[in-house]
Amino acid sequence: MSSPPSCSAADDTLMRNRILSTKLYFDVPPSKVPLIYSDSYDISFLGIEKLHPFDSSKWGRICKFLISFGVLDKNRIVEPLEASKDDLLVVHSESYLNSLKESSNVAKIIEVPPVALFPNCLVQRKVLFPFRKQVGGTILAAKLAKERGWAINVGGGFHHCSAENGGGFCAYADISLCIHFAFVQLNISRVIIIDLDAHQGNGHEMDFADDNRVYILDMYNPGIYPLDHEARSYINQKVEVKSGTRTEEYLLKLDEALEVAGRRFNPELLVYNAGTDILEGDPLGRLKISPDGIALRDEKVFRFARKKNIPIVMLTSGGYMKSSARVIADSILNLEKKCLIETSGDPKTA
Ligand SMILES: [Zn+2]
Repeated sequence: MSSPPSCSAADDTLMRNRILSTKLYFDVPPSKVPLIYSDSYDISFLGIEKLHPFDSSKWGRICKFLISFGVLDKNRIVEPLEASKDDLLVVHSESYLNSLKESSNVAKIIEVPPVALFPNCLVQRKVLFPFRKQVGGTILAAKLAKERGWAINVGGGFHHCSAENGGGFCAYADISLCIHFAFVQLNISRVIIIDLDAHQGNGHEMDFADDNRVYILDMYNPGIYPLDHEARSYINQKVEVKSGTRTEEYLLKLDEALEVAGRRFNPELLVYNAGTDILEGDPLGRLKISPDGIALRDEKVFRFARKKNIPIVMLTSGGYMKSSARVIADSILNLEKKCLIETSGDPKTA
């Protein structure tokens, strides 16, 4: 949310107070790793989730793979709290939140028309509650990243949602929320968003339009959803990758883009939206990046953060093919092997 000139001092104070009284920023003991997940992230809704072309238990499967690889102990995962109404009001309006009390509006946002037929209490519990837990995870991730150097929210990355509009399976603006909480709670004033999901991140782009505290590098396929030309004009560094782009070309463009971003902006926090819908075969992203290419991509962004000593928050965002969970887990394993993160150390000495 940019601060429009009409935004009064009273509104600013209210926002600050909401942020300062949040329960989402709790202290995490050193025995935990900054990897955030809850079993309630996963969406199952009377089988209706199968109507959406995606794996709605991706988040839990990522953790299962990591545990089976031996790089993660279930007891060391950080479970976030659910973002409360007061937390959400930091960015969203009362009227937007009220619109989610109509199941038909939620059905449109998550692109599952039959959801319109269910009573809202059920939609809240089965769909919006999991999302609010993921939002709590994204917000907490910035605090953990500041303390530990990095944090991964195994969910989140709802980059199509802005303060006033949901869409594209994104009901809450977790990235905008995370950054506003970081401004106030972590006392920082410069954030870079590196959005490498296949789709354009129009939600955070609308929210931080003309806000020079936030620098947005967005690498996306310009021929697919959301085709939001107004939001495009707010991207600080736009890298368009057309349908069919292959791994080598993609990674070259990323190298160049990171080099340019590093020269132009000196951030205190990096929010990395690591959607895996760039994967070859993804019906929505239409790019042709190999699984190894995704691991290399994530490694490059983590190296960029490490080299510049910037705390990094990673969000898993889009990419819901059955193969996505494994690709993400493999990439996290690669980050661990390259010593860019540390998830498997002895908890007693952590
Ligand atoms: Zn996407």
